[in-house]
Amino acid sequence: MKLTSLLVSATAAISLATGVFAEGTVGIAMPTKSSARWISDGNSMVEQFEAAGFTADLQYAEDDIPNQLAQIENMITKGVDVLVIAAIDGTTLSNALENAHFAGIKVIAYDRLIRDSEYVDYYATFDNFKVGVQQASSLVAGLEKVFGDGPYNVELFGGSPDDNNAYFFYNGAMSVLQPLIDAGSVNIVSGQMGMDTVGTLRWDGAVAQARMDNLLSAHYTDKTLHGVLSPYDGLSIGILSSLKGVSYGSDDLKMPIVSGQDAEVPSVKSMLAGEQYSTVFKDTRELARVTVGMVQAVLEGGTPEINNTETYDNGVKIIPSYLLEPVSVDVSNWEEILLGSGYYTEDQIK
Ligand code: BGC
Repeated sequence: MKLTSLLVSATAAISLATGVFAEGTVGIAMPTKSSARWISDGNSMVEQFEAAGFTADLQYAEDDIPNQLAQIENMITKGVDVLVIAAIDGTTLSNALENAHFAGIKVIAYDRLIRDSEYVDYYATFDNFKVGVQQASSLVAGLEKVFGDGPYNVELFGGSPDDNNAYFFYNGAMSVLQPLIDAGSVNIVSGQMGMDTVGTLRWDGAVAQARMDNLLSAHYTDKTLHGVLSPYDGLSIGILSSLKGVSYGSDDLKMPIVSGQDAEVPSVKSMLAGEQYSTVFKDTRELARVTVGMVQAVLEGGTPEINNTETYDNGVKIIPSYLLEPVSVDVSNWEEILLGSGYYTEDQIK
């Protein structure tokens, strides 16, 4: 027996004995490093995939669609066994996934649904509708706490229209807000509603800041704004800059209630400084764990654990999904949730 075959059988024997060795390469395509949450996602996945015996090829595309497409095509050419993709634009990957399918590569949509392709095998995400419900519920709770009885003047921001999640967040939020709008206790003073009007392309904080500037100058010179529905911390920070620019957050002009998502460090600091009101924590370590489990099952020819087979229709079929629970966070529970879980250390926040 040659030395190499001896080594191979020795490794196989060890793998059988320990039960943790898995073979395979996983291509991980993440959208951008400009938001800390995707860095955590990538790091957690690499760590957990390697611990399970996989080789991980992690790529970020800096929110550039052709760049992400090229990265995925490249992973297919290199012969990865599985693709884990958090798409920048969930509608632009159909051709690439067809190529993946014919190369025998399984595809897992990570956090964001990949639309318009039958070649998406599974979807690992959070309960995205619930994220929106939590954002709006916290907004309403904040309005009552800080501004007493309504009616309240509120503006709405949506996420990127090419991200399927953005619609779930918006619809979840509107399930809470629409009845209050109908009852007259929440006024959308600008009248701007609906994802086609309030969406923020590529989740860009500067775009949200510019839109907030415009809303303030067009509708709030003789009215006070009380709250802003923001679906992501990066937008919230831009919105808050705009608000501070016209003296909100000073003694005679209270800071409006601003929601968020991802519990990113600048937003946690902003909450502690009395600016951003809340955020939604999504434990990226858990999402990585679910994804690693899916990949293991798929490569062993088994069926991954899923807990939803109804919600995520990608335009071609319903993708079997695993939904994790998001957690609403504000100053009252941030220590318990963010420090208690070990997601952050106190040094990172203070
Ligand atoms: C994610 C959110 C994130 C947003 C912007 C969404 O697809 O689910 O957690 O805030 O993208 O990166």
